Amino acid sequence: SLQEKLESAFKNLKGQGRITEINVASTVKDIRRALVDADVNYKIAKEFTDKIKDTAMGEKVINAISPGQLMIKIVKDELTELMGGAEAGFNAKGNPAVILIAGLQGSGKTTFSGKLANYLKSKKGFSPMLVAADIYRPAAMEQLRVLGEQIGVDVHLELENKDAVSIAQNAVKEAKSKNKNVVIIDTAGRLAIDEAMMTEVADIRNAVNPQEILFVVDSMTGQDAVNTAKAFNDRLDFTGVVLTKLDGDTRGGAALSIKYTVNKPIKFISSGEKMETLDVFYPERMAQRILGMGDITSLVEKAQEQFNEEQAKKLESKIRKNKFDFADFKMQLEQIKKMGNMKDLLGMIPGVGSKIKDLEVNDDSFKGIEAMINSMTPEERSNPDLIDGSRRKRIAKGAGKDIAEVNAFMKQFDQMRDMMKGMNKMNMFGKMMPGMK
Ligand code: GDP
Ligand code: MG
Repeated sequence: SLQEKLESAFKNLKGQGRITEINVASTVKDIRRALVDADVNYKIAKEFTDKIKDTAMGEKVINAISPGQLMIKIVKDELTELMGGAEAGFNAKGNPAVILIAGLQGSGKTTFSGKLANYLKSKKGFSPMLVAADIYRPAAMEQLRVLGEQIGVDVHLELENKDAVSIAQNAVKEAKSKNKNVVIIDTAGRLAIDEAMMTEVADIRNAVNPQEILFVVDSMTGQDAVNTAKAFNDRLDFTGVVLTKLDGDTRGGAALSIKYTVNKPIKFISSGEKMETLDVFYPERMAQRILGMGDITSLVEKAQEQFNEEQAKKLESKIRKNKFDFADFKMQLEQIKKMGNMKDLLGMIPGVGSKIKDLEVNDDSFKGIEAMINSMTPEERSNPDLIDGSRRKRIAKGAGKDIAEVNAFMKQFDQMRDMMKGMNKMNMFGKMMPGMK
């Protein structure tokens, strides 16, 4: 993956006391190769790495105490800039605000429409309405109806109407009369860019004058994503991009190239099919994720949505003091189960993303872990170092597991604690969350 390749590119530099022109050049070359392999357009990758080289070759870097770290910081800053710098913002104010969703078939428009409605309703206090304007596939209308029902949002449906433009107009009228303040229009897509599709979406746009036109793109489509984005932007002049299917292992190439190519911000990222898995896009957090620095900020935010503040602070302080124990772990697991996709969440922990990409993480595999923790005594939970061979045997028996499984779990837990220690060394919390030191 991009992340692994970048990690190995930096490895060469990490141990070195000095940065020389030669090892900057070779690191930059590795970074460029990693980007191109991750489907970043060659021209973009070259321009990007040339910029990094210029910055790195500045005197300051060559004389830095830990050049590897500084190099990572330079790359992170440049990546952040490449993906748009600051958070883009999203405009849902209007009477009603109209949000038009466009993209190829299968890119995730309908799923995203549901997620956006859910996000605006449950997190932002809006009262949204969904509009099924994909008139070509009855199944698509049904899909949106089901999603709407699931999240408790009204769906405007006209099964007999074969004119997407008038459906959109009727929906806006209905929204006004029902005091809905956001209208999200889910449109039809084709498998490839197609004149009829473009005309239809453009007609809807002209008829309902949307505040936001969001272009939805499957992040797994690589280079094609850039071409598609360009075609849609030429025609629709969209206001933002939504990257979908960022579950698990991120290729990242699309995120890196799209902003550069069409100069439109990425506004949301979506991962997984659960209605809760929608995130506002933060370029810096994405850069950290791509570089394997994890996304502690998002992770803590997610945790805070579930934990109360006191719990979250306590947990952070324990992590910082290397006192994270099995009791905390068990509590985490319980909270995580409520938060959504396990693999995504684990991927946000620094250094974990690339390690778990091939792992099948599902809720069932966590049942065994819970059973093992349940078989520990309170002393063992709060003092993991206490757990010797005979205690492991007892725990295995209690949990109905092999001793090997307990050993493997203990080893994983140790690795996790080591990782957290590493995080502390880098003073991640201090750097990323000012005021929470
Ligand atoms: P549309 O044709 O653009 O409306 O796309 P859909 O919303 O119907 O999605 C196409 C397929 O991709 C469906 O099977 C969705 O469940 C799936 N899908 C959509 N978004 C995501 C995502 O973020 N992650 C994953 N893994 N699947 C997704
Ligand atoms: Mg659809």
